[in-house]
Amino acid sequence: MNRIPKLLSKTKLLRGYRCLKCIYLTIHHPELEAPITPELQALFDQGNEVGAKAREYYPGGILIDNKPWDFGGALAKTRGLIAEGAHTIYEAAFSYAGCYARADIIKLNPETNRWRIFEVKSTTKVKPEHYDDLGLQAWIMAKSGMQMEQINVVHLNPECRYPDLSNLFKEVDVTEEIRNRYLSVQPKVSEIFATLKQTEVPNIDIGPYCHEPTECGFVEHCWKEKNIPTPSIFNLPRIQDRKWELYQDGIITLDDVRLTDLNELQMRVIQCFKTGERHIHAEAIKNEISTWQYPFIFLDFETINPAIPRYKGCRPFEQVPFQFSTHILSQSLDSEIVHKEFLHVTDDDPRDTLIPALLDACGDHGSIIAYHAVFEKGRIQALADYSSEHREALLKLLDRFVDPLPLIRETVYDNAFAGSFSLKYVAPALLGDAHSYNGMLVANGGDAQRAFEEIISQKTSPGRKELLITALIEYCKKDTLVMVELVKWLFDQ
Ligand code: SF4
Repeated sequence: MNRIPKLLSKTKLLRGYRCLKCIYLTIHHPELEAPITPELQALFDQGNEVGAKAREYYPGGILIDNKPWDFGGALAKTRGLIAEGAHTIYEAAFSYAGCYARADIIKLNPETNRWRIFEVKSTTKVKPEHYDDLGLQAWIMAKSGMQMEQINVVHLNPECRYPDLSNLFKEVDVTEEIRNRYLSVQPKVSEIFATLKQTEVPNIDIGPYCHEPTECGFVEHCWKEKNIPTPSIFNLPRIQDRKWELYQDGIITLDDVRLTDLNELQMRVIQCFKTGERHIHAEAIKNEISTWQYPFIFLDFETINPAIPRYKGCRPFEQVPFQFSTHILSQSLDSEIVHKEFLHVTDDDPRDTLIPALLDACGDHGSIIAYHAVFEKGRIQALADYSSEHREALLKLLDRFVDPLPLIRETVYDNAFAGSFSLKYVAPALLGDAHSYNGMLVANGGDAQRAFEEIISQKTSPGRKELLITALIEYCKKDTLVMVELVKWLFDQ
């Protein structure tokens, strides 16, 4: 057992809110936690960026710039600033009874001599987990002696459109909700500290909280402990919350006879599991693909969705394409394959140059084939809204889309899909391991976004940019080439 730290940060305490085993493992068995993934790090960075931006909307404050681990320094500086009469403080630190929290922005109301809290969240609405977060924070602050009068969540405003960022943030007064929770905080905190003093890991089962609101870092450890096989009921497509009811009833494996009341797709998954055979409905495949028209244009976009919008007309988190790849088969599956691609590599708006290149690649006839086409169609609709010049031509593309994903979902299942119809599972399962994305520098949409951000950053060296540009081109090209092979496979059935 490790020593319990003198002060536990709000972030750690909230792990105890999620699950007492989580906080226990965090303190006593940190070696079992999965390392921070690049995706998670990108989320932290985004939160920091949004937090820093929000300070501009509450000007005149003083930043407590002590590092996150410098509890003592941040507390001393906060006390000093309050004693000196500071009226706005960023990242102020407070502690009470072993609990420690930093508030994004606090402002003193000189008329009442009470404080208002503004906690910045990089979301577009108040989420249920924000209440626990702010409830704990307000409790620590109140117990440390702060007189408060109002508690606000400051979130990104979905109505905001670049370049007018005057309404980038929206304040929501949650004082009443937090007041209603106030009395529940002390028992929760006491329970957390009592748990940490135990010599045994708390006996807590896995549950929805393992993945909500974010993935717990101990999932691999806890799920292995429970011997959950793959596949299991957790891999059944569209099973949603029912999987937890099944789990509670002890129904875990796909051959459990009590597994009933399933939809057609789920029954197919179970049938394949029991027989070990692949399911293919060849006639339905033929019926669908016989309606597709040459040239076949295989299309895939990569997009960026910055929390703080940076392109004209965009709202927070709006998806803007910066890259596409197309592979074109002009007359038949045996036609020579033509590749057309586009990658934006500077920090200006990608759409002005992407749209003409896209229209050129797609031409004016033939089926545009996109896996999960609803995404590509949504981006094209947004491009049409952006460009009055090309609106009509862009809208005409929409009717030409066909999508192998729903077709495969309806007609094909292989045990190697493990319940997922994502291209990353389907392609290697049907086409072989050569079509896996393993080992690629850019291997998924998140990697692509981070690579793009690095490419357009002034801080990135020319050598690194070259490497990332090559990796991005390879990745997007692979997505459409895999689709070509997948469609050839469908035609072979
Ligand atoms: S994986 Fe689930 S059970 Fe394990 S610590 Fe995390 S939340 Fe708790």
